[in-house]
Amino acid sequence: MALTGINIFKLLPKTNCGECGVPTCMAFAMKLAGKTVELAACPYASDEAKEKIGAASKPPIRLVKIGPPGGEVSVGNETVLFRHEKTFVNPTAFAVAFSDGQSLEDLRHRTAEVRQYCLERVGEQLRIDLALVENTTGGVQPFVEAVKAVAGGTGRGVILQSDNLEALEAALQALAGQRPLIHAATPGNADAVGALALKYKAPVVARAESLDALVSLTKRLAAAGVHDIVLDLPADNPAAQLQYNTVIRKMALKSSFEPLGYPILNFATGRDLPSLVADASTFLLKYASILVVDTLQYQALLPLMMLRQNIYTDPQKPIQVEPKVYPIGEPGQNSPVLVTTNFSLTYFLVSGEVENSGVPAHLVIVETEGMSVLTGWASGKFTGAKIAAAVKASGLESQITRRRIVIPGYVAQISGELEECLPGWEVVVGPQEASDLAPLLKLEAARV
Ligand code: SF4
Repeated sequence: MALTGINIFKLLPKTNCGECGVPTCMAFAMKLAGKTVELAACPYASDEAKEKIGAASKPPIRLVKIGPPGGEVSVGNETVLFRHEKTFVNPTAFAVAFSDGQSLEDLRHRTAEVRQYCLERVGEQLRIDLALVENTTGGVQPFVEAVKAVAGGTGRGVILQSDNLEALEAALQALAGQRPLIHAATPGNADAVGALALKYKAPVVARAESLDALVSLTKRLAAAGVHDIVLDLPADNPAAQLQYNTVIRKMALKSSFEPLGYPILNFATGRDLPSLVADASTFLLKYASILVVDTLQYQALLPLMMLRQNIYTDPQKPIQVEPKVYPIGEPGQNSPVLVTTNFSLTYFLVSGEVENSGVPAHLVIVETEGMSVLTGWASGKFTGAKIAAAVKASGLESQITRRRIVIPGYVAQISGELEECLPGWEVVVGPQEASDLAPLLKLEAARV
């Protein structure tokens, strides 16, 4: 059955109860056809509807899981070309490349770096997701030893890159039950590599030199029963790669073209650092599901991980922190009091600057549904009355003797309202940018 709004509507209860968040069943059916809502939002959908609509509305990009149970990485399952249409689902997995030509000592050292690698930003820990091992020696034993060292050393799922079938099978045996990703089935070896994927229940990369060849290859693998596929269509330059990625994703999402409905793997290796960051950023934006890099340098991975975090944040659900009073340092009864919103980025910027200033302070975080200062103010969620209510509800007034509160400079206009709503308090208009807080805090501390 084609997934049209009318076809879906015929299977819905037609009671227009609105519990799905949409006023009518017809409107819900249209959204379902556009894949912007999920059938699960209708609590009254029949089993027949679940079976028929569920199958027809399955994500057009297959969900593929890589890695050992408990540490698996999911890629794919995307439904939209642009984040603002709904949200992107599974963040691009970063894979660091190793080779069986590296000494075991070098592998031990580098894999430990991958295991420990962690950047913290707005309360989230950003890590390396996968490790790729390339069979550069062409030998079986060196490959197996390197694969074991990398899997054990990193604790991550592994991508096995070899064109030696014997080496691939030996490595798959060594990683039994760990769902490594096989790289790669090609038009020349698809039957044999497909058989390995089925035998070891492992996902497989389909790699071809042209779009037509890739389509034939995935059809061949699917006909053989291999469904957990990742696409690799290498290009001569980043612009061509971007074009390939875009064509593949558009065909899958806009034309429901199943042979290309799989996650994409891109390499950003063998480049100088600026080129690596530029190319990898391009692929991250459109539409790499797995990105292989060959560096662990912070100056490369930090911007890439931040970019990934920004792209894969749900635009409808800003990252938030709990609204309450946060002590920064060990504030006392005379320490400065500051206020801002519960948008995570704002909280971490302000708390970081307060911490760096060395002046202990009470930071009041107001519930604004994750909106930033100006957006919260514009939508009536960060007003003098709301801030006053938050301060009173927090119990802060019983812990402090000095009643001065610093508000963000962007909302200087609420200072009068806040003073009215918080009798006995003096309102200080702070800087617009958190980076300018330190001098003000030092002055506030000196006033005691
Ligand atoms: Fe119709 Fe189901 Fe939405 Fe109610 S919850 S309006 S029955 S689609």
